[in-house]
Amino acid sequence: MSFAMHGVGVSGGIAIGYAHLVSHAALEVPLYALPKTQIEGEVVRFETAIESTRAELEALRTNIPAGSPAEFGAFLDLHVLILGDSVLSKAPIDLIKGQRINAEWALKQQMDALLTQFEQIEDDYLRERKADVVQVVERVLKALLGHSGHVPATGSEQTRILVAHDLSPADMMLFKQQRFAAFITDVGGATSHTAIVARSLNMPSIVALHHARQLIRENELLIVDGQQGVVIVNPDKHILAEYKLRQGQWEIEKQKLKRLKTTAATTLDGTAVELHANIELPQDIPQVREAGATGVGLFRSEFLFLNRDDLPGEEEQFAAYRKVAEDMKGLPVTVRTLDLGADKQLRFADRSGDNPALGLRAIRLCLAEPQMFHTQLRAILRASHYGKIKILVPMLSSLSELRQTLHLIGHAKQELALEGTPFDTAIQIGGMIEIPAAALAVQTFAKSLDFLSIGTNDLIQYTLAIDRTDDTVAHLYDPLHPAVLQLIAMTIAAADKAGIPVSVCGEMAGDAGLTRLLLGFGLRQFSMHPAHLLAVKQQVLKSDLPRITGIAQKMLKAQEPEKLHQLLARLNE
Ligand code: PEP
Ligand code: MG
Repeated sequence: MSFAMHGVGVSGGIAIGYAHLVSHAALEVPLYALPKTQIEGEVVRFETAIESTRAELEALRTNIPAGSPAEFGAFLDLHVLILGDSVLSKAPIDLIKGQRINAEWALKQQMDALLTQFEQIEDDYLRERKADVVQVVERVLKALLGHSGHVPATGSEQTRILVAHDLSPADMMLFKQQRFAAFITDVGGATSHTAIVARSLNMPSIVALHHARQLIRENELLIVDGQQGVVIVNPDKHILAEYKLRQGQWEIEKQKLKRLKTTAATTLDGTAVELHANIELPQDIPQVREAGATGVGLFRSEFLFLNRDDLPGEEEQFAAYRKVAEDMKGLPVTVRTLDLGADKQLRFADRSGDNPALGLRAIRLCLAEPQMFHTQLRAILRASHYGKIKILVPMLSSLSELRQTLHLIGHAKQELALEGTPFDTAIQIGGMIEIPAAALAVQTFAKSLDFLSIGTNDLIQYTLAIDRTDDTVAHLYDPLHPAVLQLIAMTIAAADKAGIPVSVCGEMAGDAGLTRLLLGFGLRQFSMHPAHLLAVKQQVLKSDLPRITGIAQKMLKAQEPEKLHQLLARLNE
């Protein structure tokens, strides 16, 4: 049966491929009794699943993809160890025989018992290993239920579409190593970090589909239209032909944009605009260069900390920052200090609290963990000797936070100077404006900083009180809300007055439909995912600042959504 589902498109393009359902297998385990005659066969089925899972883990272990997080190997070793534990690999056999039940159920019972034991453990680190137990059991369940968790490394994966209930940003980083044609999830918002990483995979993706994971079956044919946020399940041949055509057109447009790679981003009236890229890991740099970005405007350094069981040390961080600085060959690289917390938690120390977006996140967490922060600051400063690095502090809300941060940076500099370790003594320090309080008090921040960067994803989240990750309020997330526009324009104007540069590095910067609006507010520096850079450049090249500035200023006075959309349409004519 063919049907369509609607969600929130987070990355454009059209993909046509076969559904691959991931995760949550543990929640969907069938229970059935077996006649005596089938018991032996069931035991063999269980043992075969354990063996094939072991082989799969070992194969992954010996073919760790380039660019995997450093701890990926250790994490696979741990999974092999868990799999070998008799509680999971032997005890279920007794249950199958004793209770005459199916292998999946026997395994799930053992997993539940094990997880209850884990709850009693006092050691935080060991208690957190629960997640690993679940992941190992899910792998075995997938082998039992007939769908492999392992994605083949052949050309066929290009046409696989990942269907999940939810994916964390950390999950997405792992999927970065496997090629999928698209990804869709039931939950999530367009500016959640999961969606942002999906965008960095440069493939169509849709979130907030609500029941996709339930309604779509393994290997069903899907069309994913990331632009419109539509998924068509089992399309008929006419629809399929239509979408193949659109897919071809999309590709042609993409190829055309590539010609702009080396063109300077200058408006019709001759104003130069800087188009920088956002990255998560050093491995993203080839894509940045491919897009012709003139710098890295946001390196989300916290991604170096995900998918591992320890903190990256100074040397490892130094090597990562240095690599980016060197690979960018003298172009600016803005390293944002750790923005852990909320939806980006350390695997071994979840500090999310009851209200994670308002909790111990970003600079707050760094100030609460000065040792961890100090290690990062030393690593960034040391790397600054090898390129043009800038430091960017996320989520500032008060001047006292900024003062403490500057003091800690000063301390790290002093330490390095005493040791005789080289670093850029004139390194620029900037702050992110992503909390309304910071935008309203922006002049105070601007006085003590070398540059500002507006994080519109969080600025919108906090201004409109909308959780970025919550699909139930995703429809209320509105970059054109008059309050949001005022805060952005105020920040740009304040930076201008203070004589310091300001950029936008939230998702608004990569939306070509908003390029002229931001230019009209006076913005001259944008930082976005590299996949969006050339489309934004195309807008810049076609923009006439004297004409658009007047309309953008009118938008600042407008209050009604209809009027705002009408003016935006005029702006984009
Ligand atoms: C933002 O909030 O706009 C931003 C760029 O930071 P992040 O998306 O990583 O929170
Ligand atoms: Mg942010």
